[in-house]
Amino acid sequence: MSVPPLLGVILCKFCGYEIDTVDTEKVTTYYSDCKRDTCLLNRNCRIGVINTNCN
Ligand SMILES: [Zn+2]
Repeated sequence: MSVPPLLGVILCKFCGYEIDTVDTEKVTTYYSDCKRDTCLLNRNCRIGVINTNCN
């Protein structure tokens, strides 16, 4: 199965998760916030906000 390439992609600026793809006129990468629980947790661990439940 082949998927036609979409030129624009929205990635989470924190974890790199592909949030969405968009049609654009040129190759573009947007960065946003995926707001996934796992991402929020990892983010907090990384910056030391919380010290529990961190792998
Ligand atoms: Zn994320």
